[in-house]
Amino acid sequence: MSQSVYVRSKATGHQHQKCYLAYTNGCSTKITGEHCISHNLLNKIERLNKTIDVLGLSWLPKDQLTSVGKKSLVSNVLCSQHNSDLAPLDNEIGQLVEAIGVIDAEYLNQNAMSLKFKVDGSGVERWILKTVLGLVHSGQIRQQSGLPFGTHSKCAELLCVPHARWPTGWGLYVSTKASKVYHSSSFELLPRHNPDTGVLLALDLKFNGIQMHFLMGRPDLPSSFGTHRPGALVFRKGSVASIIELSWPRRRAGPPVRLTHAGTYAGASPDHSFAKPAQ
Ligand SMILES: [Zn+2]
Repeated sequence: MSQSVYVRSKATGHQHQKCYLAYTNGCSTKITGEHCISHNLLNKIERLNKTIDVLGLSWLPKDQLTSVGKKSLVSNVLCSQHNSDLAPLDNEIGQLVEAIGVIDAEYLNQNAMSLKFKVDGSGVERWILKTVLGLVHSGQIRQQSGLPFGTHSKCAELLCVPHARWPTGWGLYVSTKASKVYHSSSFELLPRHNPDTGVLLALDLKFNGIQMHFLMGRPDLPSSFGTHRPGALVFRKGSVASIIELSWPRRRAGPPVRLTHAGTYAGASPDHSFAKPAQ
């Protein structure tokens, strides 16, 4: 559970110049090669899909899902201490993506059973923060001009402190707009930023085809992003309903988001043009 995930500050008194959590004075002397999109998630995508199809990194073609190798997603932006402090967050996102995949696979059966999973939503939010900071500090995502994105100073605090107070309107939204969800096993991430300051305001994310938004600012119209911190994702197929309960310790959960399974589709998400470069 993510509640136990915390970063020990001032434990070592050391600041590693390459670690983006150096300001906490809790670094080790060693920098680690870490996947800035978690290894756990990459493995699950690869197992379901055979390839890892990613959209949204600065070195990939724009608006095109592209197969990438896991090695190309390694960066050196955390020291070994902070890397191991934050490693348990990777389980939260792994559980969510796995649950979506298992439900989807079950619904391929004619007599599909209803399934139930529990995932810590707060842990997923902190995993997204870890991913944002890793991608920004490694330069995997950057502004179109080539300049790095800025991040709100609150982001690192929310990542490090499990019970930190989140500003109003920040956090995870699950889109309720999509009439159809294509469960392609891919990961999509599109940064939105303030063009004047370069500061990141939001990420549009897709996990296995489900559209979510992660906000690092207060939206003018929250409902346009979907349901804030839904208490559950409900997947219906005929009379069968499967549920992924999302827990939000010490926070009010939004209403469940309901998705209907209309059929199966083995191809790539038709939302985007799809290119697989020669391997
Ligand atoms: Zn460190």
